[in-house]
Amino acid sequence: MSVLVALVVGLFLEREKGILAREELLLQDSLRDPLTGLHNRRSFDAELARVLASPGEHYLLYADVDHFKRVNDRYGHSFGDEALRAIARTMLLCVRRNDIVARLGGEEFGIILADISREEAQRLADRLIAAVAAFDHRAAEERITITLSVGAARRRADHSPTMLMSIADMALYEAKNSGRRRAVFCTEPMAEPTQPPDTAKGAPKAEVTV
Ligand code: GH3
Ligand code: MG
Ligand code: MG
Repeated sequence: MSVLVALVVGLFLEREKGILAREELLLQDSLRDPLTGLHNRRSFDAELARVLASPGEHYLLYADVDHFKRVNDRYGHSFGDEALRAIARTMLLCVRRNDIVARLGGEEFGIILADISREEAQRLADRLIAAVAAFDHRAAEERITITLSVGAARRRADHSPTMLMSIADMALYEAKNSGRRRAVFCTEPMAEPTQPPDTAKGAPKAEVTV
């Protein structure tokens, strides 16, 4: 009888373990971008809220691939997909171990740098841009250079995640407008995120770093 009980308990435990493993996988999938394996938007939002809730100097980088539509048009969508995967791997090689790298959608990425100085954040952004530009993408025998623009924002105590994102987005806009393949850091005084940067009170000062 006790053998039978042990068998039933064993079978029950095995089944529970299987369910837990499947749930773990599902959870991972719901937080990962399927193309690149990076954090997805949902996971990024949760991580950003978590980091902003902690004291310290934190930066948000908002990166966008330059002229990516042209890349797709010239070399095809699957080449574009492969390039996005290579960009994601390159980004992971450039950041620190605990930094959060996410694909926010399309050819846009968000990087959360917690507890980092301005100088270090700038070095990291520059390293990211240089490494992505140096990657040897190949279509047939042709070497293709794909570049990145980055907008960066330092969080202030009163910044919500949405405000920080829109400040980084404005800096990215500035990086695109001033020639691409560069990082622009946005510093205070900052604009109201709901107003366009040129009409807003105390529009952000941008510094081109490359
Ligand atoms: P900009 O330098 O101003 O950012 O120019 P851009 O061409 O990168 O910007 P735009 O927003 O016009 O185009 C983004 C393109 O990214 C459009 C779409 O073809 C491509 N794209 C978005 N998501 C994916 C994807 O998952 N795979 C591939 N291959 N291409 C994608
Ligand atoms: Mg874009
Ligand atoms: Mg783009």
